[in-house]
Amino acid sequence: MNLVLLGPPGAGKGTQAVRLAEKYSIPQVSTGDILRKAVKEKTFLGVKAKSYMNSGKLVPDELVVEIIKERLVENDCENGFILDGFPRTMVQAEKLDNMLHTEGKRLNKVINIKVEDDLLIKRLTGRRICKDCGANYHIIFDPPTNEGMCNKCNGELYQRDDDEEDTIISRLDVYKKQTEPLIRYYEKQDMLATIQGNGAMDKIFSDMCQAIEGSM
Ligand code: AMP
Repeated sequence: MNLVLLGPPGAGKGTQAVRLAEKYSIPQVSTGDILRKAVKEKTFLGVKAKSYMNSGKLVPDELVVEIIKERLVENDCENGFILDGFPRTMVQAEKLDNMLHTEGKRLNKVINIKVEDDLLIKRLTGRRICKDCGANYHIIFDPPTNEGMCNKCNGELYQRDDDEEDTIISRLDVYKKQTEPLIRYYEKQDMLATIQGNGAMDKIFSDMCQAIEGSM
């Protein structure tokens, strides 16, 4: 089962991808997570990507396409994958189609999570992440039991550099200009399901599962 999660930053792609990965036993492949790890480890890729990420811009297509090319041939992707944060441009979408075609594969479903801008801004400015295990919290909607500390592993919580308000505005702008056209692209291929992403997490998850299972 090869899935893509589409939607603006803050739509909840990452949170839902973790749950889908568990339910369907296929890996979540997040280009954002791969890039953040590279930045932290100061690899060649990380050094190149850092300034784009911190200013809310997209990392150049050729870099992310290469990341995905290498990741999707790993063994754990044999039975499928959940792409979270890729593709984000038309070029990336076309490269993905070609890549899968060469392997005799195709996408099964693209889930578009829809959320209004004001809620996205609230979600992103309040988001906190565990430095050690990557768990997500929100200072108002989903606070940890002890302030600044992860419930799961006691790790320290931090705010992503790109979750500052100015950067969020530019990320939303980039989404509208460069990523939103993909909705039409996948709609035309009859592959798109749009889910309202502003309700309860469990309801969003069950809507997603229904859309996925309805297409199998
Ligand atoms: P995310 O965690 O998905 O919000 O991604 C964080 C940042 O990583 C984005 O704002 C981009 O700078 C970069 N990034 C992640 N995925 C992509 C992609 N598919 N294409 C270009 N840049 C990306």
